[in-house]
Amino acid sequence: MRILIAEDEPVSRKMLGAALKRMGHEVVATENGQEAWNTLQSDDELRLVIADWEMPEMNGLDLVHQIRAELAPKRYTYIILLTARADKADIVVGLEAGADDYLTKPFDPQELKVRIKAGQRIIELEGKLAELSRIDQLTQIPNRRSFEEQLTRLSEQATRYGRHFSVVMMDVDFFKKYNDSLGHEAGDGALRSVAHLLAGALRTADHVFRYGGEEFVCLLPETPESGARSAAERMRAAVEAARIPHPHSPAGVVTVSVGMAGFSPNNGVTPNQILGHADRALYEAKANGRNRV
Ligand code: GH3
Ligand code: MG
Ligand code: MG
Ligand code: MG
Repeated sequence: MRILIAEDEPVSRKMLGAALKRMGHEVVATENGQEAWNTLQSDDELRLVIADWEMPEMNGLDLVHQIRAELAPKRYTYIILLTARADKADIVVGLEAGADDYLTKPFDPQELKVRIKAGQRIIELEGKLAELSRIDQLTQIPNRRSFEEQLTRLSEQATRYGRHFSVVMMDVDFFKKYNDSLGHEAGDGALRSVAHLLAGALRTADHVFRYGGEEFVCLLPETPESGARSAAERMRAAVEAARIPHPHSPAGVVTVSVGMAGFSPNNGVTPNQILGHADRALYEAKANGRNRV
């Protein structure tokens, strides 16, 4: 694990760094809270921090406050406060501020090791939860939350660097009738199949998400509208070609209608409007007879 140390005393900093390295960790050493904070902001793989309490510029307690206030929405950072203050009242203040644990100086290497292990368990668990919260349970593809994060990221990049990207929205045709005639469980199975078919029709850089219900959405980075059209058509055709029987659809099989919209630097559409445009195009595809882009 990569571990950040914030400690102003050179000898203590060296000893702590050496002990962590002996345990097989990679160490990033800083000399005060401000330097630690700057480092944390630019390195999002740093998930565990060992911070001294008394430091110039920004002390350990302020560093804890800063991390909890600013970094919390992005990722969990496990913080161990290192302190000569073994006083109960101080420990309470430190934990209250948001530290996860503490070590008293001079630290005992065995104790350091097990406290790091405890932190590692939390960080691993948090990683699993973060992953689970972005996966749709039924289809096992990324969910709407994941889509919104990726869309935001892609929009920022596209605006900053003048890049293209496209959004493709898909909705299963006559799906209420599918459920009504074959049952909800069959409906669930069909949604799983459709998700799998859509994902299989895409290149690896492109991602399909379950937007909700029987609606899916796909993000195509670096792709102008002209290129998105062929991907959209490929996805539509893949679902139709799978020939999943649908007793109450004119096609006799499960199909999807597709709407798409592209963002390009000079077409006057903001990234935020993209989704609305794709949705309107999808509505048109429905109105014009379904099973089409
Ligand atoms: P259209 O062609 O206009 O899209 O008609 P539709 O019947 O597909 O659209 P509508 O919005 O009327 O119905 C959507 C249906 O999708 C209703 C709902 O029961 C079903 N559905 C949504 N989520 C799930 C799910 O997770 N599992 C199953 N089995 N059905 C779902
Ligand atoms: Mg100090
Ligand atoms: Mg729908
Ligand atoms: Mg539908």
